[in-house]
Amino acid sequence: TELESLIDDLVRPIEDWPEPGVTFRDITPLLGDPAAYGAVIDGLVALAEEAGPVDAILGIEARGFLFGPSIALRLGVGFVPVRKLGKLPADLLSTSYDLEYGSSTLEMHVDALAPGARVLVVDDVLATGGTMMAAADLVSQAGGVVVGNLVLIELLALGGRERLAPIRCSALRSY
Ligand code: 5GP
Repeated sequence: TELESLIDDLVRPIEDWPEPGVTFRDITPLLGDPAAYGAVIDGLVALAEEAGPVDAILGIEARGFLFGPSIALRLGVGFVPVRKLGKLPADLLSTSYDLEYGSSTLEMHVDALAPGARVLVVDDVLATGGTMMAAADLVSQAGGVVVGNLVLIELLALGGRERLAPIRCSALRSY
């Protein structure tokens, strides 16, 4: 589709970054093109609407913040930031997860979600699914329900979709 070619043209693969053997998908050329950025937001909003009604959009630091708030405003729901360790000021929920080397912690305010809130989790790229799983853990600690995950790009070989099942993940482009 047109949107897929837009992403192919404006998300550039960077070989061996951040370490040898990794191909990093760099979205910054897309962000610099307002027509393309807008078209991608439109596409994500359409996928969000397909996922069903939600009470909040949850975005993951940092690149989830580049897409989540625009989607939330378009859907007329609030935006909840999930942040890295030590960034949020009020009472917190916290979850740690394993990375390839070491581990990482994500945090969310305890009062970020209403009880039973239906949440759509947004990020730029789905790789192994570890980040989205951690976000789902925070939502469940807060008493909410993840109705779906939404990303710009899914890296199929890394198995994120299988790991997240039965929660679905929608993507604008798969590689
Ligand atoms: P996962 O936890 O699914 O293995 O990795 C996904 C997280 O790492 C996301 O927050 C995403 O922003 C980041 N990430 C992993 N690989 C890439 C990539 O190739 N490009 C970008 N832009 N982000 C990536």
